[in-house]
Amino acid sequence: MAKESIVIIGTGWAGYTVSQQLNDKKFNITVISPEDTSAYTPLLASAACGLFDFTLAEEPVRHKSKILTYYKARVEAIDFNAKTCKCCAAREIDGGDTRQFDISYDRLILAPGCVSNTFRTPGADEHAFFVRNVADAKKVQHRIKQVLELASLPGLTEQEQRDLLHIGIVGGGPTGVEIAAEMSDLFIDDFSTLYPSLKGKMSITIYDAADFILGAFEDSLRQHAIGSFSKRHVDVVTCARIKEVTKDSITTEAQGRVGCGMVLWTAGNKQCALVDTLDVAKTEEVPRIMTDEYLHALSPDKTPMQDVFALGDAADIEEHFLPTTAEVAVQKAEYIAATLNTDTYKAFEYRQKGLVAYMGGHDGVVQGKPDWSGQRAWAAWRSKNLLWTRSWRRKFMIMTYWALGWLGGKEIARI
Ligand SMILES: Cc1cc2nc3c(=O)[nH]c(=O)nc-3n(C[C@H](O)[C@H](O)[C@H](O)COP(=O)(O)OP(=O)(O)OC[C@H]3O[C@@H](n4cnc5c(N)ncnc54)[C@H](O)[C@@H]3O)c2cc1C
Repeated sequence: MAKESIVIIGTGWAGYTVSQQLNDKKFNITVISPEDTSAYTPLLASAACGLFDFTLAEEPVRHKSKILTYYKARVEAIDFNAKTCKCCAAREIDGGDTRQFDISYDRLILAPGCVSNTFRTPGADEHAFFVRNVADAKKVQHRIKQVLELASLPGLTEQEQRDLLHIGIVGGGPTGVEIAAEMSDLFIDDFSTLYPSLKGKMSITIYDAADFILGAFEDSLRQHAIGSFSKRHVDVVTCARIKEVTKDSITTEAQGRVGCGMVLWTAGNKQCALVDTLDVAKTEEVPRIMTDEYLHALSPDKTPMQDVFALGDAADIEEHFLPTTAEVAVQKAEYIAATLNTDTYKAFEYRQKGLVAYMGGHDGVVQGKPDWSGQRAWAAWRSKNLLWTRSWRRKFMIMTYWALGWLGGKEIARI
């Protein structure tokens, strides 16, 4: 009997996990994505700050152990009646984006994720930095090195140096907080000896539109985080309305224009171009593709499309809101793979796991465990980072980098 063909759109946490867990003896698996690797997003902040090599923060889609077809392309449109995806080669391999082709499917798995939402803030799309994948993280590391060298040149006033060495982070969720933590470690522990003339002039500000940071954590832990940050040159500005971002400044309604060497945007998601084009039911938030509790995408009249699944940041279950996290994406991916591999259908149930955030200086917080703040939380965060990586080889290499960093400093600061 001919194998059923399953097409997966996207190679983030959701698409990649399904592709690796589907039974390749039972299905012809085709993966379409402009990215031929899947980023370990929780490790991007560490990689950007030189804790380990960038190759350890991503996993290639093609594996010797898995039979699948991969196309480095973008799906531009889907015809659900004809069961066809209209694709266009990725720009990196076909600069003009001209090579187009169609791929047919028996079943379709939609996992194209979200894109950053800068809420039309003037200058943000052009000048802010992002950390959604390894390419972004590399740009961040490059900019950190640039501002340090710029600030070290002769003839700069102290204020010019301080402005260059000020990093603005928009968004006080776990991503923004973790990047602030890693950068404060880099600035305080690693660069102050390498750049003695800049010591004490480096600073970080986290801006959040809400009146708190770390929204998913209880109040005592948020206060702990703010207290911990204040000792590490990290300011937290809440109720901040960002009015403009330029290449060397950030302007807020309350503070006016503040000089910055880099603005990192970690706040907000919006739907990607593909989801925008799809004729399916969508949630009001973001918006995301609406699914039933078996993760079938719903047509505009809310009828489940039995051959189309949707998951990850791009989708949400009708009336069962779940956050846009890797935890949710992976659990849904495992559920879809198990459902299709075994032909057993029971509704998806999400299991909430512990939330951990790192504050820098071996301090952190664990939601639901206030007595775990400090080094215990830091240890929990480090072990969670290891758990995200899928191969033993990568786990071993990351631990080796940690050990080397502990013994002799991070590679980025040993130039
Ligand atoms: C820096 C950072 C740290 C994070 N830390 C954590 C954490 O500690 N814990 C946690 O649970 N979550 C974390 N998250 C959130 C988590 O990474 C996301 O929820 C997760 O990546 C969502 O997975 P996804 O597969 O749905 O989407 P994505 O990872 O965004 O992947 C989408 C994929 O679809 C592809 N794609 C897009 N459009 C098309 C198209 N038209 N055709 C084909 N392919 C397309 C993209 O190229 C990409 O490969 C973090 C996120 C970031 C950015």
